[in-house]
Amino acid sequence: MSANPEEYRFFEVVQGYIEQAAALTGLPSHVKAILAEPKNELIIHFPVRMDSGEMRVFKGYRVQHNNVMGPYKGGMRYHEQVTLNELKALATQMTWKCALLGIPFGGGKGGIKFKPREHSIDELRRITRRFTHALGSNIGPSHDIPAPDMGTNSQTMVWMMDTYINTGPTYEKNDQRAVVTGKTINSGGSEGREAATGQGVVHCIKEWARENRFDLEGATAIVQGFGNVGSNASVLLAKLGVSTIATGDHSGYLRNEEGFNAHKLQDYVQANGSIAGYPRGDKITRKEFFETKADLFIPAALENQVGAEEANNLKVRLIAEGANGPINPDGAAVLADRGVPVIPDILANAGGVTVSYYEWVQNRNSEHWDSEEVQRRLLHMIRRAYQRTMFYATEKKIDPRIAAYSLALESLATSYAERGIFP
Ligand code: NAD
Repeated sequence: MSANPEEYRFFEVVQGYIEQAAALTGLPSHVKAILAEPKNELIIHFPVRMDSGEMRVFKGYRVQHNNVMGPYKGGMRYHEQVTLNELKALATQMTWKCALLGIPFGGGKGGIKFKPREHSIDELRRITRRFTHALGSNIGPSHDIPAPDMGTNSQTMVWMMDTYINTGPTYEKNDQRAVVTGKTINSGGSEGREAATGQGVVHCIKEWARENRFDLEGATAIVQGFGNVGSNASVLLAKLGVSTIATGDHSGYLRNEEGFNAHKLQDYVQANGSIAGYPRGDKITRKEFFETKADLFIPAALENQVGAEEANNLKVRLIAEGANGPINPDGAAVLADRGVPVIPDILANAGGVTVSYYEWVQNRNSEHWDSEEVQRRLLHMIRRAYQRTMFYATEKKIDPRIAAYSLALESLATSYAERGIFP
């Protein structure tokens, strides 16, 4: 399968997982037909003034896959490789992720196709505000709730929130803060949201280690992508005694056999935008990164990063998918043959949407939970989803990915069975 993301049919890959889960769970054909396609696919072209005075037209998207369990929910991605096919896949995965975790949200995803790194803060703010304005009532706290994803962060969410509430009625302003999650704490964000996805990945790894009597103290990890998910997972793993010995991002790859200081590298990336130029590590190629022997591999960048070649080269005991869809079907087949276990994305990276849900609940109730409260709830939900998935996989003798898809599908199918189809 091609390693070129432009040609990768990610949506069809996700549909393939749904097909397998549907066959296993005996899903009624009309429910399968409903879930096979997103409900709404919105494409918006909007103009923005650049710092130079020139006008540029951007292409923005919002895909709303399904809302039978609750409002559409999912990230906003700013990246040059954004396509409708990719966002359909990611929105569909959100429906499954929320259903697996038992979160009362549906699935959505959106984004803008451009290179955020090439724009000033002022331009990013104008692009975000104009896009939010163009989305208008297609988003809303009870309808569709965006969050950060690749290329966006808490600042992006605060701009979105501010634009949304300032274009609505005055008397509703504070009720509307829940239109996005992943905000800064000062502007209504939740404790623990920034690191929540990395924390969820680490909770899953801890569960796996406990089940397999594997001592994490002194273990090693390789991490692809050192943004929100990768860097926070690396920092949290360091607290358990796991050293990150190789990492990489859009600028290249680095190895340090002694282990990186994850905190320092995170600060460096926040200040410089990438790992390029970080002094404590040797430059390696992408191929050498995948060949690095380690206990754990956390893909935390884009989809379609592990094909057959990378899967053959990996020398790790466990893969925990921080990114969405990092392993393509050819890569998955090789890993299954080689017996390398994979904690699938809709389980491993569900910590983000879980704490986003807590943020939404807090906003709606005008509450602010302390960090201990958020962490206690997060651990409980991730642990329960992990155990249910692995139990189901063992019982049915299936891959954990298909187990996770099947469990989620059972709950979606039950909703359709109870509600029926209107009219
Ligand atoms: P981010 O923008 O903070 O970081 C992305 C990282 O990927 C950066 O280090 C970037 O340099 C790197 N990257 C980009 N293109 C690359 C390439 N071609 N090769 C190698 N590295 C590349 O994004 P993030 O929020 O950390 O998201 C990473 C992944 O995790 C995505 O798949 C996203 O959908 C998934 N995810 C994120 C969250 C969240 O809460 N942010 C939740 C669930 C899943």
